[in-house]
Amino acid sequence: MAGSGKFFVGGNWKCNGTKDSITKLVSDLNSASLEADVDVVVSPPFVYIDQVKSSLSDRIEISGQNSWVGKGGAFTGEISVEQLKDIGCKWVILGHSERRHVIGEVDEFIGKKAAYALSEGLGVIACIGEKLEEREAGKTFDVCFQQLKAFADAVPSWDKVVVAYEPVWAIGTGKVASPQQAQEVHVAVRDWLKKNVSEEVASKTRIIYGGSVNGGNCAELAKEEDIDGFLVGGASLKGPEFATIVNSVT
Ligand code: PGA
Repeated sequence: MAGSGKFFVGGNWKCNGTKDSITKLVSDLNSASLEADVDVVVSPPFVYIDQVKSSLSDRIEISGQNSWVGKGGAFTGEISVEQLKDIGCKWVILGHSERRHVIGEVDEFIGKKAAYALSEGLGVIACIGEKLEEREAGKTFDVCFQQLKAFADAVPSWDKVVVAYEPVWAIGTGKVASPQQAQEVHVAVRDWLKKNVSEEVASKTRIIYGGSVNGGNCAELAKEEDIDGFLVGGASLKGPEFATIVNSVT
């Protein structure tokens, strides 16, 4: 743990679940024992946020999986930051690789979203990460820095930003980054923040890892100095396994 604040574990439920499966997941989370010294956040699909908010323990905060770039209005299919706040969200995930590479969101747009969400008081889980071909071409740092710069150019303050390093090749593939691979990028990200934002932001910002984190590999990853938590997809749909990941804080 190098950033200041608590270890941070987010569960990104993506486009999964039904009323019934979410009732079970919430009940498992409510009965799990979670280390006190960890910020825990879950990100249900929008349509279930209200259900989760009314049944989940206040110990766990709620995040949107995306938000609109400005004030709401005539934007069919979008969800505004104001609406997320209205139903009790404290966070939003922005720049997730599925938004970038499946939906086609670009750096500048994502940066603007982050700036707007922060200006309205939401915390932002700012995702960055390279594709396999970019890693193989030796471009991991270039890609991550470019995505980071788009956030840095837009956001007025880093106080409520958590950076999530999620290599695209590790997301949903079962191919987790090795602790060394993740640590190497986290150090580089921190160094970039130091040179391009400030020493204070570099030392305070939490940098979490995402991509095939599970109950079996979290403990080794959590030992790395610059891994300040996790963003978990698949394994966050299983309450007891998610609790194991939360409790991997060292
Ligand atoms: P995964 O997803 O844990 O299923 O790989 C992580 C994420 O997309 O945040």
